[in-house]
Amino acid sequence: MNAQASSANLIETPPVSEAQIESSGANVRPNGPIIAHPSNGNSNSAPALAEPAAVRSEQLSPNYIPTDFEEFPDGTLVELVQGPASLGLLVWSEGKASIVEQFEHDGRLLIPPAVDQKFSMNLRLPEGVGPCPATAQFFAEICEVVRSTVDLPESSIRIVVAFALSTWFVDNLAVAPYLWICGPPGSGKTTLMRLLHCLCRRAVLTAGTIPSQVYSLPALLRPTLLLDELQFNGAQHSHALESWLRAGNARGVPVTVGGRLVDSFGAKVLCSRQPASDTALSSRALHISMVPTRSNLQALDEETVERMANDFQPRLLMFRLQHYQEFRPQPLDLSPLSPRIADLARALVLPLRGVEKETLAPIFDAMVEQANQASVERAHEPEALVVSALFGYCHGEESTTVLVGQIASQVNLCRRRIGEEADLKPRAVGSILKSLGLATDKVDSFGRGLHLTVAVKRRIHQLLQIYNLKATDPARIAECVLCDEMMRTRHSATEKV
Ligand SMILES: [Zn+2]
Repeated sequence: MNAQASSANLIETPPVSEAQIESSGANVRPNGPIIAHPSNGNSNSAPALAEPAAVRSEQLSPNYIPTDFEEFPDGTLVELVQGPASLGLLVWSEGKASIVEQFEHDGRLLIPPAVDQKFSMNLRLPEGVGPCPATAQFFAEICEVVRSTVDLPESSIRIVVAFALSTWFVDNLAVAPYLWICGPPGSGKTTLMRLLHCLCRRAVLTAGTIPSQVYSLPALLRPTLLLDELQFNGAQHSHALESWLRAGNARGVPVTVGGRLVDSFGAKVLCSRQPASDTALSSRALHISMVPTRSNLQALDEETVERMANDFQPRLLMFRLQHYQEFRPQPLDLSPLSPRIADLARALVLPLRGVEKETLAPIFDAMVEQANQASVERAHEPEALVVSALFGYCHGEESTTVLVGQIASQVNLCRRRIGEEADLKPRAVGSILKSLGLATDKVDSFGRGLHLTVAVKRRIHQLLQIYNLKATDPARIAECVLCDEMMRTRHSATEKV
């Protein structure tokens, strides 16, 4: 992949302008210790300055620190916004906001990061803050906008809105939520992407091949990347894209792109005609499907998009600022969900305190269904089929060995039953056995296989649990000491939880 850019390429010299950015009427200048500090002295504005700027700048020799967000111990928050001419910083303190070009704190001079011109056109930033209603009312209002713009089941509408709101708190979340939109042409995918471009935090929308600079954006701005028309066709490019995406929903997992380590953590919307066959990537996302529609829905022309963005972005930023400090993880009973889906559920629901449980129930139901679907798909993975076949051999006739070729035949029988045409060769099954920690040995003159010792059988029983597979043939299992052992450990683990 040709991705040479790093965040350094995107950062230009600090923007220096003498005029302080005036914000919209909703913004108020902060009180107290906040000092809106103009750059390098020769300013004719900045009434908050206590001393002439030139003197101050000589004394302090301030270090310019590009920042997109800062939280100070006194509760002051500094957030990147769009000013009339260039990027600015919104300073939020004691419920009041002001927009400045740079912000001095403790000898440091915070300035907005410089963003590549190509993305500044596409990057959606609020121009200030506006009054935002209570969470439940805001959630309902945004649901209504989505409902009137795209044709989606109610559960998907709520997932979309919960996702959009969660993007405003990604820096407070353990995992970054991914939303995956699948559907054929004419299903309204692009309309939904444009709508999400109005609703998500720092949304950047790209379609088709991803420009190399985009790979560096998460570290620079923590944007919500909306990636339209993605193609996962098994080519080298798509493998690299998949690994970049897989790494990007957990913190602190840098990935190599174009020979450089980049941080890809951040919320993302993935839009494609078909889902990726990469189940590891698929399991990181909330999925919604779209079908072609004839419903007479609101057209989303450029003017409407701008109007919506101007309406929602300042209120969404207010929502973030008001809830940022009270945002703490809370215990949620998510036992029917796999750990990964449970993390996603937390990311979606945490910003929605104040929304009634009944309103959120369709989101949980859709996630449980997705978890069930994923578990069926996982059970069809080659590794899971090998484990299931081995589990059968543990409870079969009194044979003490099994050949790799026999396991392959059993696996291929199952694969044909689920519609897979290509058989797995014994060599491939041998590699899978090795990856599962089961060493093969020469069994007899016919070839290699496993000696079914108690240790090997115990490992196979453990693997059944690890892969979350169900034991079949209850009659034989009832007589198995290892199955009994497995059930007891499962119960004691459940009791501990
Ligand atoms: Zn058993």
